Amino acid sequence: MNYYSLNKQAPNTSFKDAVIKGLAPDKGLYFPENITPLHDDFFKNLEHLSHTEIAFEAIKQFISPEIPEDVLKTIIAETLTFNFPVVQLDEQISTLELFHGPTMAFKDVGARFMARCLGYFNQDNTNEVTVLVATSGDTGGAVANGFLGVKGVNVVILYPSGKVSDIQEKQLTTLGKNIKALEVNGTFDDCQAMVKTAFLDESLTSKMQLTSANSINVARWLPQLFYFIFAYKQLYKKYDDIVFSVPSGNFGNICAGIMAQQLGLPVHHFIASNNENNVVTEYLKTQLYHPKPSIQTISNAMDVGNPSNFIRIQEIYKNKFETLKDNVSSFSFSDDDTREAMLELYSKYNYVADPHGAVGYLGSKAYLKNNPNAHCVFLETAHPTKFLDVVEDVIKEKQPLPEQIQSVMGKEKVSVKVNNYEDLKRYLLK
Ligand SMILES: *Cc1c(COP(=O)(O)O)cnc(C)c1O
Repeated sequence: MNYYSLNKQAPNTSFKDAVIKGLAPDKGLYFPENITPLHDDFFKNLEHLSHTEIAFEAIKQFISPEIPEDVLKTIIAETLTFNFPVVQLDEQISTLELFHGPTMAFKDVGARFMARCLGYFNQDNTNEVTVLVATSGDTGGAVANGFLGVKGVNVVILYPSGKVSDIQEKQLTTLGKNIKALEVNGTFDDCQAMVKTAFLDESLTSKMQLTSANSINVARWLPQLFYFIFAYKQLYKKYDDIVFSVPSGNFGNICAGIMAQQLGLPVHHFIASNNENNVVTEYLKTQLYHPKPSIQTISNAMDVGNPSNFIRIQEIYKNKFETLKDNVSSFSFSDDDTREAMLELYSKYNYVADPHGAVGYLGSKAYLKNNPNAHCVFLETAHPTKFLDVVEDVIKEKQPLPEQIQSVMGKEKVSVKVNNYEDLKRYLLK
C-alpha cells in the first residue's frame, strides 16, 4: 500500500518508507491511498475467527506487499500474545480492557507491531534508525518494552519531568540496552515540540535516520483498529447498536476505530471522551479549531493541547463537518467528575477503573442520555495500578500490584535531564 502526506506537498511513498520516516518531508501525516472495505461475511463470521486471523484480514491491505503475508502473520502472532476482554457492567455499558499487555497500556499493541515491522525492514542492518518519541506517560513504557533489543533500532524517549506516574517513569527509565530516557524540564507539549523540531532539523536528519513511535507513525497507529473488531466480536450477537467511547488525547486510538468502521465494521457511533483538554469538544460545538497549551490533569496521558491525529479523522470524513458530527460526539470532563466516576464505578459495579477509563465511562453516560438504545463500550486504556496514587486516594482501598508492574518497581531509574532543543540535539549527535 502507498501512503500520501496530508499536507499534499510530498511524494507518495511505500508502507516501508512511511514507517521509517514517521512524518512526511512536508511535515504532513501519512495516510493510506485506499481503504477497501472487507466483505460483510467477514464481520458476520467473527465469532468463528481467532484474534490473529481477524487482525491479519483487517490490516493486510495496508501492509502488503512491503511485508510478505507469512511474515505479517508472524508479526501479528507475536504482537497479540494477550487478551482483550469485554467486561459487561449492565445492559447499556461495557468496558473493553486494553491493559493486559506487558506494560499494561493499550499502546503495547501498536508499539510491539511497529517494533517488529522496523526489525523486519532492518534485517540486513542497512536501515539503522533512531526512534525519537515524546510521551505523556504510557507511550514511553510501551515503546521501551516493545523495542527492547530490536537490532539496529535506538530508542530515545522524552518525558515531562514530574508529570508521569512513578510506575510509568520506572517502565521507561529502567530497561537499559537500546532504550534511553530523557527527562525534560517542561510539559508533554514541550516534549512533542522538541521531537517535531528534531524531525525538521536538516543538520540532524542528514546525519541520522530519525523516526517516531507516536501514533503519527502508521505502524503504531493502524494496529489499534484491531481492538474495535475484537470488542465487536464479543458483543454483536447480543446488541445491534454498538457505540465506542474512547478516552482521547492525540486521537490515534479513536481514529483507528474509525478506520475499522471504514473497513465495514458496523459501529454506530464514536464518542471522543476528553478531560479538560477539550479542543475537539469545542470544535464540534463551534466548528472552530483552536489548539491550546495542555492542562495537567489526573488522566495525564490525555493532556494534549493539539491532538496530532485529528487531521486524519477529518480526512476520513472528507473534511465535511456534518459527516464528522454525525459519526463522532465529544464530551469533556473535569478531574472532579473523573474522581466521582471512579467512585461510582466502584460502588455500583465493583469495578476499579483508572482515570482514563473513567473519562470514557462518563462519555458513555453522557451519550446514553439522548441515545438510550445504544450499547456503549468504553475503552479501559490502562490498568488502574498505573495510576495508583489517584486510584487508592479515590476508592480508599489498597490495590494489589500485578506481576508486570512489580517487576519494574525495584529497578533503578536512569535518565538524562534536558532543558531545551539544543540539549536534545547535542545528546543525539554525541
Ligand atoms: C495514550 C493514552 C490515551 C490516549 O490515546 P490517544 O490515541 O492518544 O488518543 C488514553 N489513555 C491512556 C492510558 C493512554 O496511555
